Amino acid sequence: MGGLQTARAYIGLGSNLDEPVRQVSLAMKELDELPLTSVKAASSLYSSRPVGPQDQPDFVNAVVELETTLSPLALLDQLQALEQRHRRRRLRHWGPRTLDLDLLLFDDARIEHPRLKVPHPHMRERAFVLVPLQELDPSLAVFEQAPDHWLQRLDDPGLQRIGNSRG
Ligand code: AMP
Repeated sequence: MGGLQTARAYIGLGSNLDEPVRQVSLAMKELDELPLTSVKAASSLYSSRPVGPQDQPDFVNAVVELETTLSPLALLDQLQALEQRHRRRRLRHWGPRTLDLDLLLFDDARIEHPRLKVPHPHMRERAFVLVPLQELDPSLAVFEQAPDHWLQRLDDPGLQRIGNSRG
């Protein structure tokens, strides 16, 4: 049947174009309005240096916790449609974007699908994901370890808290 079991999912949000704070705050509201889905908690907003090409603006990042009865792939479809609605521009790999949404964790599921890898494969190396996740729940398991375990392995988090997501 599907659709009846409630899962807890974590979504990473990022933007560095077209008023990034507005993009991320609006996306949080839109995530709460997705079918069969509600936002249970939202991290603070953070600013981070871009991964890859440095000649682009800093990113604004945050993480939200969702409760959803969507399947992982149905949730990915919704995230991608939401990115499109923000007229995400992909000029080059790891270049600037209006809104990037990553499905980080979906309960304790391990998913290896051509369209979807969960936990998100890069999340262990990204302070802009680990710090907001830790803020929401320091006891979460990320590849079997707490967020802090992975954070301690990074030399420079390069991350600044810029405020509360509720402004
Ligand atoms: P990105 O550059 O991060 O926006 O990559 C988007 C692509 O990653 C899409 O084609 C997705 O199907 C794929 N993808 C794989 N795993 C994930 C995930 N956990 N969250 C979001 N996109 C994913």
